[in-house]
Amino acid sequence: MNPKSTKKFATKTAIIISSIALIFLSTDNLKTANSNSLAQIPPFFEDSPPNLLKPPKQKKIPPSPPPTPAPTPPEQPLIFAPPAQFRGQIVYQANISNSKVIALTFDDGPTPETLKILEVLQQHNAVATFFCLGRNLREFPEIAKKVVQSGNAIGNHTWHHYYHDVTEKTASNEIDYTGIHIHRSTGTKSLLFRPPGGHLNNGLAAYAKKKNYVVVMWSIDPKDYLQQPPSTIANTVISQAKSGAIVLLHDGGGPRYNTVKALSIIIPKLKQQGYRFVTIPQLLEMQAAQKK
Ligand SMILES: [Zn+2]
Repeated sequence: MNPKSTKKFATKTAIIISSIALIFLSTDNLKTANSNSLAQIPPFFEDSPPNLLKPPKQKKIPPSPPPTPAPTPPEQPLIFAPPAQFRGQIVYQANISNSKVIALTFDDGPTPETLKILEVLQQHNAVATFFCLGRNLREFPEIAKKVVQSGNAIGNHTWHHYYHDVTEKTASNEIDYTGIHIHRSTGTKSLLFRPPGGHLNNGLAAYAKKKNYVVVMWSIDPKDYLQQPPSTIANTVISQAKSGAIVLLHDGGGPRYNTVKALSIIIPKLKQQGYRFVTIPQLLEMQAAQKK
């Protein structure tokens, strides 16, 4: 072996020895790391998945889940009806002393104005009752559907909004056909009736009572149909508010800008005073429950 080869051999041997030493060292480190691994993991990582340190266990692949069902629409009552004691009766307000509740009602819709009212109600997480005209239900069934889907109650306000005296046959046409269109547009039935103009003696209310409807009048009338300024409408409602009150407002019969604007004053103000807004069936159920 010449000196050059000797040097080469020595270098190779050195490399091999250091490699073996390195392998031993790193194996040792690895063992230490593994044995102390749990103690060394800071709490932050304690929830880390176990396969961070161990090879993942072979999991059985579960069968693929059934296709996600379409989201179900909000629960709709099949019928908007008052408790039995109120059927065939006239109600102006409810007697409720253990809770601060008010029922807002809107007459003469549904119309495109109704959508603006629904928007304000939804903004403030409030519900109301809408007394609809049959002819408007036929024209705007989708709006009526939206009224009910948003958690509001719907009621019957006749087909033509007659004030004059009617025969029983006409009353039947007015109320029954409107009922049919409530069902067609919303899939619900209603035993809530509001007589046009509040007239109780022209034959319409009598027919509704005979058919077991509750005749829903009101205790607060801010006369929004006269296009009063929003502040006047709002002040009337706020100053007369009391638990069990029924408020008369309109979502049809012309532009309802003032009503919508007033509503956005009334709801937050009365909420601030501790009032909740409920539908007519809810209001009457509360009175019935209180008397038990
Ligand atoms: Zn009306």
